[in-house]
Amino acid sequence: MSDPTRPETPKIIAVANQKGGVGKTTTTINLGAALAELGHRVLIVDLDPQGNASTGLGIEPGDREFTTYELLLEDIDLADVIQSTAVPNLSLIPATVDLSSADIELMSNEKRSFLLHDALRQTDIDSFALDFILIDCPPSLNLLTVNAMVAAHSILVPLQSEFFALEGLSQLMLTIREVRQTANPKLRIEGVVLTMYDARNNLSQQVEADARNNLGDLVFSVVIPRNVRVSEAPSYAQPVLTYDTTSRGALAYRALARELVKKNAKIAA
Ligand code: ADP
Ligand code: MG
Repeated sequence: MSDPTRPETPKIIAVANQKGGVGKTTTTINLGAALAELGHRVLIVDLDPQGNASTGLGIEPGDREFTTYELLLEDIDLADVIQSTAVPNLSLIPATVDLSSADIELMSNEKRSFLLHDALRQTDIDSFALDFILIDCPPSLNLLTVNAMVAAHSILVPLQSEFFALEGLSQLMLTIREVRQTANPKLRIEGVVLTMYDARNNLSQQVEADARNNLGDLVFSVVIPRNVRVSEAPSYAQPVLTYDTTSRGALAYRALARELVKKNAKIAA
């Protein structure tokens, strides 16, 4: 059962940034695994037709019978789409390329922006006793991402420590504002996390300084270093936390999970 004294249980966080390759999927998988390691029950919703979160967690395309496509567009029980993964406490709703047509199919649906919101609030969600739901968004501000923003309590934005990192943020913030005005007034920004950070590189330091100057407290103290073990882990169908448990990447995602939990405890108090 979810805890009635905690208003946001499970806490739903959309991991979004319309730029591709900034670390959305990597952050979803590894933050999810780190929260699960802390004992929280976590569900990852793969909302990207590329299905990288599903592959990265070892759910092969042949094992994805029911997916986020059916969750959004068909009347299906959560129990039929939620799959367990090799990581204890971590489950997944997988995605396949089928989802790429959903964006267009959703258009004609009257409730098009609310489908994920409603699907994740089916009454049987309580039986999974989840603490967190992390949604891995596609690299676009399309209707799928809007569904994630309408369903979520907050948005977590991975920012790649590269030139032009901050450039797309105003567009993202504009979409968040629109969603607040039309569908989800309580939508918050969970935070911005710097990814693929290279402390020896002036550019990384510059991006970090810019982000902290412009966004202040929204930027997590923890930064995720560029670490080859992080990029290898998906080809072993594992989070870096289990693939190389003491790597710098694993330590950073654990620290990020702790910072996020601490922030949320403060908000709830
Ligand atoms: P997105 O989901 O935003 O498109 P990904 O999470 O797939 O981005 O990351 C893009 C690429 O960068 C992937 O190949 C991934 O393995 C790599 N990557 C992500 N984070 C790191 C990191 N901290 N260190 C090294 N490589 C990373
Ligand atoms: Mg991705």
